[in-house]
Amino acid sequence: MAALDHDRMTSGTPGEVGVLFIGGMGRSGSTLLDRMLGSAPGVVSVGEIRKFWRRGAVANELCGCGERIRSCPFWRAVADEAFGGFDVLGLDAIAAAEDRLLVPLRKALPLRFALLRRGGDAQDFEMFAEARLKLIRAVAKVSCASLVVDSSKGPLYGAALGQVEGLDVRAVHLVRDSRAVAFSWLKVKEVRRVPGQLDYMPRISARDAALLWITKNLQMESLWLFTGRRMRLHYEAFVERPEWWVSRVLRFAGHDALPASAAAGEVDLPVQHTVLGNPMRFDRGRIAVRLDDEWKRALAARERRTVTAITLPMLLRYGYVGPLPLAGSKHRA
Ligand SMILES: [Zn+2]
Repeated sequence: MAALDHDRMTSGTPGEVGVLFIGGMGRSGSTLLDRMLGSAPGVVSVGEIRKFWRRGAVANELCGCGERIRSCPFWRAVADEAFGGFDVLGLDAIAAAEDRLLVPLRKALPLRFALLRRGGDAQDFEMFAEARLKLIRAVAKVSCASLVVDSSKGPLYGAALGQVEGLDVRAVHLVRDSRAVAFSWLKVKEVRRVPGQLDYMPRISARDAALLWITKNLQMESLWLFTGRRMRLHYEAFVERPEWWVSRVLRFAGHDALPASAAAGEVDLPVQHTVLGNPMRFDRGRIAVRLDDEWKRALAARERRTVTAITLPMLLRYGYVGPLPLAGSKHRA
């Protein structure tokens, strides 16, 4: 591998690794955004590395390149660099510490996060911070990138990552119409996790999708409040002008590189070593970028009413319904 420099190219404290965290509710278009960002020079996209320990290193699921994680040359080099190999990683202890740290906080107030480094969570946070810093530094070093895109989406994980010393974390809060998100969670979707076996992406009811949509979006809003390190991006605006938005997001992350060209509704995507994500993470070459609004025709009236009713205040806030369209969300239904 080439000589490496962890310093940010354009901003941040010297020695820090830049991380662009994509947060919000699943099925909002994060895999496409992640991959487009990761195709820019000096940027690497690694998918949802929140799940790297259990789904990557233990279950050995497929990398975006088509190899299994433990056989993928990229992740082998990362594991060697960060931990001296997969087997000396102390996976169980790290994963358990992260679960203790993040899972019980699901319903917690944002203020709780300010106390992560103290009290009963301090030891778990230390373990989380040390393992994550090593992993992300190694990703940056092996890929010769100064910006790592992490599309794990979980707001609590992202906020905890934002407190790790040595990382300069900026968050993109990706928002999509709640009806489109619920429709995606209701659909049967095939996914490849391990070779020779077909799995299905998890499904949840329209009501649960609506409640989760509110929770994740409120967490993304509140956990980054007053930090100046979060920007909101609407899926519907992004797919209309993907190249422009990717440039804007990269600038927000302090990175000057231009993204891959997305002219004429298509983008050229290379092989990327992503952990988890939408099945399109395996696609390579010319990929069509267009608004997926099938829900407007195919979401059953009853489910549409349920989701609209539950999420109405935030649909109004985000400009998806109502008289006052907000910035970046003129796509109403
Ligand atoms: Zn790979």
